Amino acid sequence: MTNLFPSPQWPTVPVVGETASYPVHRIFCVGRNYAAHAAEMGVEVDREAPFYFTKSALTAQPSGSIIAYPPGTENFHYEMELVIAIGAPVFKADKATAAAAIYGYACGLDMTRRDLQLAARAKQRPWDLGKDVEQSAVFAPITRAAEVAAIGPQRIHLEVNGEVRQDARLSDLIWKVEEIVSHLSGYYHLKPGDLIMTGTPAGVGAVVAGDAITGGIDGLVPIELTIGAAE
Ligand code: MN
Repeated sequence: MTNLFPSPQWPTVPVVGETASYPVHRIFCVGRNYAAHAAEMGVEVDREAPFYFTKSALTAQPSGSIIAYPPGTENFHYEMELVIAIGAPVFKADKATAAAAIYGYACGLDMTRRDLQLAARAKQRPWDLGKDVEQSAVFAPITRAAEVAAIGPQRIHLEVNGEVRQDARLSDLIWKVEEIVSHLSGYYHLKPGDLIMTGTPAGVGAVVAGDAITGGIDGLVPIELTIGAAE
């Protein structure tokens, strides 16, 4: 059978020290995983279990891109995040098995139409228009887990036009990386190609056309994004 039109290519993320890239199949995102960010959003952290939303794999965008200011929003926000890259099949796993399935880590940006997300939240509707935004999942190259120090003391930070807006530590994560992978594996057959954005620290805010975003996590490749004109 032939296709009626070309099937899209899976986006890929470079891997430090590898010539082969990491193809993106799914993008899961954890909500409210830093207490100070939950507070600035006016909500409580749910300490019973993490919760998730998703973005289409086709929203993936490489670090260094210029993305268009998206339609339908007047409050387009950055969220700097630690990204987990899954490297082995993992299903209904305990924390140790989940940890062993982590291929690597990367810096990511969960770009968000905040006005649409909050309007949906207020009406108890899904967040898709706010979160599953074209070009909104930005990934820097992945560093293999064996080359990354134990997750905890690393600084996570983001600047807009050189001015620091987010500045925290990965030890501030409420749900730790192995807890997230273990929990999510209770609902999905996680596989290589699945990326998990682990949530953002406090200090989220709006960007406008022309803004340059930079971010970093100690030990990982930094991330960059420029906001272009609206289409
Ligand atoms: Mn986020």
